[in-house]
Amino acid sequence: MRFLITNDDGILAPGLAALYEAASALGPADVVAPEDTQSAIGHAISVLQPMVVRRLHVNNQFHGWSVGGRPADCVKLAMIELLPERPDVVLSGINAGANAGINVLYSGTIAGAREGALFGVPAIAFSLELCDELDFGAAGRVARSVLEAILAARPPAGICLSVNIPRMDRGLPRGVKCCAQAAVNWEEFYEKRVDPEGHAVYWLDGRIPHDRAHPDSDLAALHDGFVTITPLRADLTDQAALDAIASWRWPHEFG
Ligand code: MN
Repeated sequence: MRFLITNDDGILAPGLAALYEAASALGPADVVAPEDTQSAIGHAISVLQPMVVRRLHVNNQFHGWSVGGRPADCVKLAMIELLPERPDVVLSGINAGANAGINVLYSGTIAGAREGALFGVPAIAFSLELCDELDFGAAGRVARSVLEAILAARPPAGICLSVNIPRMDRGLPRGVKCCAQAAVNWEEFYEKRVDPEGHAVYWLDGRIPHDRAHPDSDLAALHDGFVTITPLRADLTDQAALDAIASWRWPHEFG
């Protein structure tokens, strides 16, 4: 079992070290990760600039490729250029911060996993709910248990799983729940300030209202202290809407 590991917090992030420790106990692991933080970068890729790639020894723990690009770039580069052989599983994380609800859309961590799935490899994103003191050691042990369970189930080619680990400062998770993404949007606002030259500057802030989420959703289960597992797919088509718009009156000919 060979792993490829990436993340969006950068190759030096403690969450990546924890995921490396969890995975490398189960098989060899290659690390290809962004050189710096790429949070909320989504499934962006670099097309306007080339990317610098450096071989880096991190933390006395592993040698990895540090990439001046996005998480999805890292997986693409790894698959097409860097790795001597294709991995059996792509892992991304452990992200500092949950990726539940619509955060899935913004998440670089999940994009790293989804890119692996697009190559037909099973892929898993791991994210840890925020609290004042993130315990990546404990989260890594939870990730390892979950990873072992997923591998034992022989995940199909191209499956993409998002795993959220509840904050660890309230004790161990109460269990695992497989659940759907909550569809509630952020309650957002901008902090408006004025810079020294008199220009307005805006800083986005907000919260995800878990209390408005469906009780069977990832947001609710995570808030209740469960590890959540949500399968994701790249096809964003709204099938019900597709069926509905097909009966709308569309023009028959143009010009
Ligand atoms: Mn991140």
